[in-house]
Amino acid sequence: MNINKLRQDFPILNKKVRGKNYVYFDNGATSQTPKSVIDRMSFYYENENANVHRGVHYLSQIATDAMEAARERIRKYINAPSIEEVIFTKGTTESINLVAHSFGKAFIEERDEIIVSEMEHHANIVPWQIMCEERGAILKVIKINDDGSLNIESFKSLLNSKVKLVAIAHTSNVMGIINPIKKLIELAHNENIPILIDGAQAVPHTRVDVMDLDCDFYVFSAHKMYGPMGVGILYGKKKYLEKMPPYQSGGEMIKDVSFEKTTFNELPFKFEAGTPMVADIIGFAEAINYLENLGLDKIQDYEHKLLEYGTKKLIEIEGLRIIGTNENKASVISFVMEGIHHYDAGSLLDQMGVAVRTGNHCAQPLMKRMNINGTIRASFAFYNTYEEIDIFVKAVKRMKGMLL
Ligand code: PMP
Repeated sequence: MNINKLRQDFPILNKKVRGKNYVYFDNGATSQTPKSVIDRMSFYYENENANVHRGVHYLSQIATDAMEAARERIRKYINAPSIEEVIFTKGTTESINLVAHSFGKAFIEERDEIIVSEMEHHANIVPWQIMCEERGAILKVIKINDDGSLNIESFKSLLNSKVKLVAIAHTSNVMGIINPIKKLIELAHNENIPILIDGAQAVPHTRVDVMDLDCDFYVFSAHKMYGPMGVGILYGKKKYLEKMPPYQSGGEMIKDVSFEKTTFNELPFKFEAGTPMVADIIGFAEAINYLENLGLDKIQDYEHKLLEYGTKKLIEIEGLRIIGTNENKASVISFVMEGIHHYDAGSLLDQMGVAVRTGNHCAQPLMKRMNINGTIRASFAFYNTYEEIDIFVKAVKRMKGMLL
């Protein structure tokens, strides 16, 4: 990959911040958007904007066709069996809330159990917690090992006939640890338990094939995979989606409304109440075109090299400790530094032109498990370079000198 050339595809990467080139290592929170995606969305507003699925007029047809073509594009990308199983949401958080709410109503009874893990993002904890409270169910937690990997024995020990759903991250947003989800899905299915995979941090780095994985739900957001904010996917198996009641209600999701009774639209529209984010959906498909043109294998390979290079350089710094040392990782490095608060570190690094994420990363239970109150997280994308890592490592050393 010619990184310098493809950086030209991302207008924001060429911006100077405080007169300097900006090193953007906060890709785990939000990735940057290529010009092709921005242009596709502008084209929509300049040429195709109308409400979808409703009008018979020209523009409405064009907008509907573009949106549905995007759905098919995304379906094909994740290899979902049918477009009925590809639901547009606002993002990972909304996808999980949808399942927690609707699956909960359809399938969860008192004293049933839901399993999550110690490494989950709050988005994959709190919706389950609320649903469990409402339905009198119990939330169980898989333990993790000191190196950040999932404790498979702990997972196995929690599986029993009371468990109605497992919800687990494909890749940890804090540590970058990649969970062996194929194995976890198999273990859950051996006990007839459905499983939801939070793929928010996996899809930017790796190709996901939901049929091959055989997961029951897979959720992710466009804005972490070079697409726009405000759109994400809930993939779900039809056998569950059909039995789940609507999450929100109103226009688009109905078949027939009278004051006596309302019947609901078919999948996927049953779960898409109201006017969707059409431009963003179309931009999302364009981001997938961009990723596919580059090639996920190449991306993964290069990002892994960045991870190895960054890790090697960082661990040379005395007093720096990486959180999540298991080697099966995406290009994310979280670390703590003796005697330094992550917030001070983040502010100084920003002054030096490096954007990293600091804090608990919406994973307070993981912070507690690791006995820390926050980390400094650098998350690399394929447009990052070795030179940027050098600048970053130098900045970390300088920051350490200033704070200690
Ligand atoms: N799960 C994981 C693992 C995440 O990293 C994030 C985003 N930080 C989310 C869920 C929530 O994603 P969103 O804010 O796009 O809904």
